[in-house]
Amino acid sequence: MKETLLEVKNLKKHFQTNKGLLHAVDGVNFEIKKGETLGIVGESGCGKSTTGRVVLRLLEATEGEILFEGTDIRQFNNKQLRDVRKEMQIVFQDPFASLNPRLSLSEIIGEPFEIFNMYKPKEREEKVIELMELVGLSQRLINAYPHELDGGRRQRVGIARALALNPKFIVCDEPVSALDVSIQAQILNLMQDLQERLGLTYMFISHDLSVVKHISNRIAVMYLGKVVEITTSSEVFKNPLHPYTKALLSAIPIPKIGQKRERIILKGDVPSPINPPKGCRFAGRCPYVMDKCRQQDPELIDLGSDHSVACHLVNK
Ligand code: SF4
Repeated sequence: MKETLLEVKNLKKHFQTNKGLLHAVDGVNFEIKKGETLGIVGESGCGKSTTGRVVLRLLEATEGEILFEGTDIRQFNNKQLRDVRKEMQIVFQDPFASLNPRLSLSEIIGEPFEIFNMYKPKEREEKVIELMELVGLSQRLINAYPHELDGGRRQRVGIARALALNPKFIVCDEPVSALDVSIQAQILNLMQDLQERLGLTYMFISHDLSVVKHISNRIAVMYLGKVVEITTSSEVFKNPLHPYTKALLSAIPIPKIGQKRERIILKGDVPSPINPPKGCRFAGRCPYVMDKCRQQDPELIDLGSDHSVACHLVNK
């Protein structure tokens, strides 16, 4: 049995806006075992990226616990937080936006060493070269600038920087969605390879279920600030139980000729996370909505076999 590296309990992040309280993340629970990947999937605005940032304390949670190796990092002081940041890193969606255009690759990848005052200049350069090799970047690019690289290489720089301090845990926030499809597979393969070699644990955030399928051990589906289904990756694809998961799955084309999935077209838009509706947040778009759904918010119930669902239809 693998040990748990990260566990979040009743995690909430609310923002005060001039229209009301925005419930970006609204009582999320999950855990990630060491060396595994939890995929977090949902449409834009479901709270998945906010969850990633709150877990790393790049945003402060409104409520809840973030247990990293059993200790709640929400209680950490600045010194403890600085130390734990070495262990917890992030890879962003758009490598171009996240890399300082005025810095060379050597400076970008070596920046964490600068921040933590690690290594002398010569050693620092050697470490940068090691990291470049690790992510498949040629050493001759060490003095290049981000605009001289294609999207795939830029994302390799983002990954190298995230690996600089030898972290245990990385939040990967849509790391391939800004890339061409042909490059996406290369970056996903690199991330899987690094996970195996370095024993990394990932939280892999994506709007696209097909992207998280191969890299994730387990998948959490989020809708409007809540996890509506969480189970193993294979179970999500074989036996999805929440109507929203079924709809997401139906949008993925089947590669085999002659096989078709029945597409479930969701009507309506995602409701506003500002003062969200009473009851099930999916009720306005759900083909199976019942009276109860509009009154009572379904809890995420553990059905056994590592499968939990929040739906009155399933949890009768
Ligand atoms: Fe649909 Fe009701 Fe289930 Fe919500 S609780 S997903 S509205 S059936």
